[in-house]
Amino acid sequence: MKIVLATKNRGKIKEFKELLLDHEVIGFEDILGDIEIVEDGDSFKENAIIKAEFIYEKLGNEVIVISDDSGITVPALNNEPGIYSARYASLNATDKENLDKLINELKKQNLHKAKAYYTACIAIAFKGEVYTVHGWMHGDVIDHTIGEGGFGYDPMFIPNGYDKTLGELDKEIKKKISHRSKAMNLALKVIEVFS
Ligand code: IMP
Repeated sequence: MKIVLATKNRGKIKEFKELLLDHEVIGFEDILGDIEIVEDGDSFKENAIIKAEFIYEKLGNEVIVISDDSGITVPALNNEPGIYSARYASLNATDKENLDKLINELKKQNLHKAKAYYTACIAIAFKGEVYTVHGWMHGDVIDHTIGEGGFGYDPMFIPNGYDKTLGELDKEIKKKISHRSKAMNLALKVIEVFS
């Protein structure tokens, strides 16, 4: 069955296509055009469900809809930006503006390095039901960027067990350890069990 991704984020779409090589994967914009989904939930899970249900209701039973609500949390900064990762600097901020804001917040607290973790909640809508799974990746954020790989906050994030940022590390490494890969592996099991 075709998998429709309930996201416009090019970085996420690229990663999902690489994680789902055995499946036909398409972003919702390629079918439905540029529609806005209002993400007004209070958690990654609520927002993931909102996105998956919204697109599933428009497309019906013939597809599996997968959404991802994700972000980075820095406990030393009062758990910012968390679910606000995509709009940390402002409502329509670019990835670069959000990353610069996180670097500035670290600098304001004189933190060169701080513990951080990524969370991904994936919602899977199919056969009239919605399921959710989570994945996490722990590490540190630093007060500058190194490398240009990945997307979003990756150039300032060093995963546990490595001494390089996700901006420097090979994408195959991120594919093995990321919050999104872990959640996607669980999502595939859900699809297998319930289909
Ligand atoms: P969402 O599309 O509303 O879920 O927002 C996700 C936000 O978290 C965006 O700002 C992304 O840049 C950030 N984010 C999520 N996953 C990753 C990742 O794997 N790397 C870098 N940034 C990420």
